[in-house]
Amino acid sequence: MPTVLLIEDDAEGRRATSELFLREGWQVMEAGDGEAGVQLALEHRPELVLCDLLMPKSNGFQACRRIRQSLLRTRIIIISGRDYGVDRSSAIEAGADEYLVKPVLWEHLREVVERVLPPPEDRALEDEVPDFVPPGARLRFWGVRGSIPVPGAGTVRYGGNTSCLELRADGEIIVLDAGSGLRLLGNALEAEFGPKPIKVTLLITHTHWDHIQGLPFFLPAYKGKNILRVLGYEGARKGLAAILAAQMETSFFPISLRDMPSAIKIEELEGMEFSIGKVKVFAQFVNHPGICAGYRLETSSGSIAYLPDNEPYDALRHNLSERTESDPKEARAYAIAERSKLVRFLKRADVLVIDSQYTDEEYTKKKGWGHGSLSSVVSLALDAEVRKLFLFHHDPEHDDAKLDQIVEAARTLVLESGNPMEVDAAREGTEVWLNRAAATGEVHQAGVL
Ligand SMILES: [Zn+2]
Ligand SMILES: [Zn+2]
Repeated sequence: MPTVLLIEDDAEGRRATSELFLREGWQVMEAGDGEAGVQLALEHRPELVLCDLLMPKSNGFQACRRIRQSLLRTRIIIISGRDYGVDRSSAIEAGADEYLVKPVLWEHLREVVERVLPPPEDRALEDEVPDFVPPGARLRFWGVRGSIPVPGAGTVRYGGNTSCLELRADGEIIVLDAGSGLRLLGNALEAEFGPKPIKVTLLITHTHWDHIQGLPFFLPAYKGKNILRVLGYEGARKGLAAILAAQMETSFFPISLRDMPSAIKIEELEGMEFSIGKVKVFAQFVNHPGICAGYRLETSSGSIAYLPDNEPYDALRHNLSERTESDPKEARAYAIAERSKLVRFLKRADVLVIDSQYTDEEYTKKKGWGHGSLSSVVSLALDAEVRKLFLFHHDPEHDDAKLDQIVEAARTLVLESGNPMEVDAAREGTEVWLNRAAATGEVHQAGVL
């Protein structure tokens, strides 16, 4: 008896469809939002998924991608109230087998199901197809904030967790920084993998607390089945392993790093180029107090540069010369050279995620604090010809309305430049997809939670 999973937030619509399938002898499962739907799909591997497009928590594109990433034989039909060509092609690209526009008549739906579903005798054969075929690189934001988590009504749209990104590329799970967003990522990984082992590489830019504070709450680290590799550079005062262990000493936390049951291997990086599986990583030290790296990851689907904490050298604004004792001319020449080096490092990255904590006005009072100002970050990204810029490490004082204004200001700067670069502020839940086509020009951004 085949199983259908209905993912739809409208309970009444779900019930009506459910009855029709039950009448035809199907087993029916129901989910009221995308997250719950993905979880049920991965757990029960239904033959068919009918998925609404606009839902809370995870929209239909996201749910579809996540199901398709793990289940090849499940047929997925997206059902939407909208008839835009771009939605249809995005759904197919996300792995859907069909896209139907509401209202859908039962006769038509049955016809489509019969068409997309393989005959029962072929289904067993399809079981032998390997489950995981990465469709491209996926970047997901789990924490976008700088300094300290800021939950509350004012930050629901952009999110309040500190720095944490997840990159799935070339068969690897790479986590960039372990801010408080890491806790939610850990829960999601456990839900997705269940009893299967998870192999994660955690790449740390620096050990300021907003980049490591999620580690004690990372669920996969508490399961013996998992392998966790932590990579980063030695801190200014102590080694990486010593600092990560220090935040879990008994005065701060009841479980020590040593007592976490997963296989945790902490490796201090020495060179500025290394590989994580097939992903090539380039590192560069950036302008931030202590030792802080920025990373550029080259995947087979495109490149991602991540500089969560950085104060760009800006010769125009003399930010270096104003705060040093050195000769202003020399300081200016140094700033120009450092900036050029960074432009080369970022050159033509498909995605740049970079510290832009302050507005230009705020920056005048916070020079030398180690964070970027809006116009210096935008001009840096324009000079480096990046395709998509994500403003990141949002100031804890900036609520959703303020961030909307900052994005508008950034877009105006880009528009004035005449450059086609896309710019947005990073939000928790946003997924960015790089596919092979992206290597020649397109970056797809999925909907936002
Ligand atoms: Zn930070
Ligand atoms: Zn920092």
